[in-house]
Amino acid sequence: MEKQSLLSLFSSNPDKYYKVSLFDDKGFKRQNCKLCGKYFWSIKDKESCPEHENYSFIGDPPTQKRLDFVKAWKELSGFFKKNNHEIIQRYPVVCRWREDLYFTIASIVDFQRVMNGKIVFEIPKNPLVVPQMCLRFNDIENVGLTGRHYTSFCMIGQTCNADATGGYWKDKCIELDHSLLKDVFGIKSDEITFVEDVWMGAGAFGYSLEYYVRGLELGNAVFTEFEGDQYNYRTLDNKIIDMGAGLERLSWITLGTPTSYDATFGPVIRKLADKFGIDIDSKSELLSQYFRRFSEMHTHYQDDVILLKTNIAKELGLTFERLEKTILPFETLSIIADHSRTLMFAISDGCLPSNVGGGYNLRIVLRRTLALLARFGWNIDLAEVTDMHIEQLESMYPELKEHKNDVRTIIQIESDRYSSSKERMYQIANSMIKSKKSPSTDDLIRMYESDGITPDFLLESGVIEKIPPDFYVKLSELHTSHDSKQILDIEPVTGVEPTRLLYYENESIREFDAKVLKVLKDKYLILYKTAFYPRGGGQEPDFGSIEDIRITDVLKQNNIVLHKMQTSPKDLFVENKVVHGIIDNTRRRSITKNHSATHILNSAARNNLGSWVWQNSAFKDEHYARLDITHHSALTKEQIKKIEKTANEVVQKNLPILINIHERSDAESRYTFRIYQGGAVPSNNVRIVNIDGWDVEACGGTHVNKTGEIGLIKILKTERIQDGVVRLEFVSGNNALQYIQSQDSQLHNIAQSLGSSREKVGESFGKMIAENELMKRKLRSLVNKFSDNMASIVAQKATKTGVGIKIYGTYDDQVGDDYYIALGEKSTCVDPFLVFVALVQDHDRIRVIVFAGEESRKILKASRIAKEISLKLGGTGGGGTDKFAQGGGRDKNKVQDCLTNLESLITSILETSEKNG
Ligand SMILES: [Zn+2]
Ligand SMILES: [Zn+2]
Repeated sequence: MEKQSLLSLFSSNPDKYYKVSLFDDKGFKRQNCKLCGKYFWSIKDKESCPEHENYSFIGDPPTQKRLDFVKAWKELSGFFKKNNHEIIQRYPVVCRWREDLYFTIASIVDFQRVMNGKIVFEIPKNPLVVPQMCLRFNDIENVGLTGRHYTSFCMIGQTCNADATGGYWKDKCIELDHSLLKDVFGIKSDEITFVEDVWMGAGAFGYSLEYYVRGLELGNAVFTEFEGDQYNYRTLDNKIIDMGAGLERLSWITLGTPTSYDATFGPVIRKLADKFGIDIDSKSELLSQYFRRFSEMHTHYQDDVILLKTNIAKELGLTFERLEKTILPFETLSIIADHSRTLMFAISDGCLPSNVGGGYNLRIVLRRTLALLARFGWNIDLAEVTDMHIEQLESMYPELKEHKNDVRTIIQIESDRYSSSKERMYQIANSMIKSKKSPSTDDLIRMYESDGITPDFLLESGVIEKIPPDFYVKLSELHTSHDSKQILDIEPVTGVEPTRLLYYENESIREFDAKVLKVLKDKYLILYKTAFYPRGGGQEPDFGSIEDIRITDVLKQNNIVLHKMQTSPKDLFVENKVVHGIIDNTRRRSITKNHSATHILNSAARNNLGSWVWQNSAFKDEHYARLDITHHSALTKEQIKKIEKTANEVVQKNLPILINIHERSDAESRYTFRIYQGGAVPSNNVRIVNIDGWDVEACGGTHVNKTGEIGLIKILKTERIQDGVVRLEFVSGNNALQYIQSQDSQLHNIAQSLGSSREKVGESFGKMIAENELMKRKLRSLVNKFSDNMASIVAQKATKTGVGIKIYGTYDDQVGDDYYIALGEKSTCVDPFLVFVALVQDHDRIRVIVFAGEESRKILKASRIAKEISLKLGGTGGGGTDKFAQGGGRDKNKVQDCLTNLESLITSILETSEKNG
């Protein structure tokens, strides 16, 4: 649907759609912009719409009151409260309730849930106002430059369901917004302009009025009245008002500062400027002139900021360099203030900087901030800046204080990680440039996963010319959970009633009777009802039998459960026949315990590590379970112990696990978005698994009644599987007991072979190590002494050859190579004309050890001899120096031959080298 044609549709009937009672009351006239053709309403006669005006409020605010960011909120919320609006707390900036968004990008997102690909609205109070922090990263390069772009901003949401109790429609909405500007902020009515526009969302649309004061858009009131599209639509049963206004702008218009950053981050920017010795006050007139011009000219210059700045400098009678020198520090301070506030909110709400998903954006803003601080030589701990934000916003967002230390911890870890990785990243990039090898997509993925080197960095460093188009696709495939990739060898089942799920009605059912509904491909059995749990939510399916046919897999497709049969029983399952199902109880109990244990461990990890810990994914099978959590570093032994201890304390407390169905909005407000550990739930009703007083999650799996039933939770292994994700592998219940028993019997066996007991095994092992060391020392001195004596005997026994050197060869399968290395070294010292060759049996291989004395090596190098003998023994050659070389082969039958013919071997080596040389 074209936005433009929709706009003409509404604009063709302005009285019906845009005209509100306020316009008649106050004398707002509808006018047409001579420049862009848009329609707008204002009291004064105007040639053009406010989009073409400059920000004339800079240096000259149109209000009596001067309101900073927090004060502006206090005044605004007081006004709406007086007018019967409920003021609700902000929602998290990390959008856990929608799978399609990482971050909350607008206030209305708070109240949107996705069901069957369609957006539905859930408005908890009617009407309401929310100071919603929103994160957007698409304008990152404009932050600081334009005076008004942000990566995080506060969108005031004035929201209501027009058709529910307490609701109102456009007349009242515009009347309130006008009154807010006029009576609260003291802006005269003839300063306000309303511009006609439209809004389109997923399956719904409406018309809107944007309101401007002196060129600055302050808010946009959207009236979502229709569903469908432009050609085929109907009026919604519940019409929605979604008025969004930027609090940063409302504060800015009252202060008239050069940029909106001065209004928003006032105290933070001032503290930073003082610390870095930047003089703000004396520059304020120049900054005001500059940003006034910038606001007017910005749109004409698209992305060419340099040209724009050059032209403004000319107008102000300055050189570009001179202007830039004044502006740049302010731009940079603003970027630092913006980025650090974004990090503060995102980390507070549980998102970690990483290389994946939304974490990627956080790492970018964090690294950009650190790079800017370094470039300007501004020495400050980034966590100090986030503390400044918390202090400023404390009265508006008291929850920030709770996570102050978490934010500090994460910022510190990430900053350290950046400085240590920076050097390594440059090294890797440089060596890649030198080697001139171009990395494959798989190489890039490996570098990204293991070293955190982004392809953007390699692009910037000139290692690659472009990012391979399949990079992000491959990367995301790598991170897709197994759940969503369940492949069925049948077409989607349609026209069948949803299966009644007995395991939800009574978890303890292990045997049941049910009527056959259908058999697909002789393989999948569909019943009217079932107690078999199908694979889902990371929980593996039940096994068992139906009428003595083994069930080897159970799947759920839409709302239909498919039982996969091991054999194809011709004619056994006819429609409507009652059949008997039996579920493998041991398996179900094991999986169930593992599932409850997952929830317990998840909270145990969060309590011990920090509020950023969320379930990333989980897998629960009969003998094995794993939980992947979001955490910044690999776990230490101490942390693993603590988590295990906490989890087992929860088991021992024998807490009841309560399962209830809640309305989604009720579940969210009662238990917060923490319930979405396994992702958002696309239904009106949410099944809440509540481990009383410990953990609450939305979950569709099977659970024990009381935590004590789990018996024991044992963590087997933990591993940092990717940037920001740590895997915990564990067992619970009988499996945990079995694991400990098997560890114990292994220990018993070790103790026995040490001739010790389990209690003393540590002590005995220590003793054995010490004894072993002593033996080694003794052996070494024995080898030394013995080889001293043997050296002269070897020299005597050696055979003279016709080429002026002596040779000695020996074979041994008893004494190790240490002895022969010592003997070779010493005997070639005794007789410098000697060539010493020892062939030593080493398991299934024969090692070749060759020494050549000082004189003999002038004729023939040890390395050459080792190589030839190795080849004869079926090896691939040897290596070493002129004096000492080693090699080897596996052909034991050639040993005798090598030793007997040592002289002719040496002669032939000499002959070939003479020929060649
Ligand atoms: Zn216009
Ligand atoms: Zn669960």
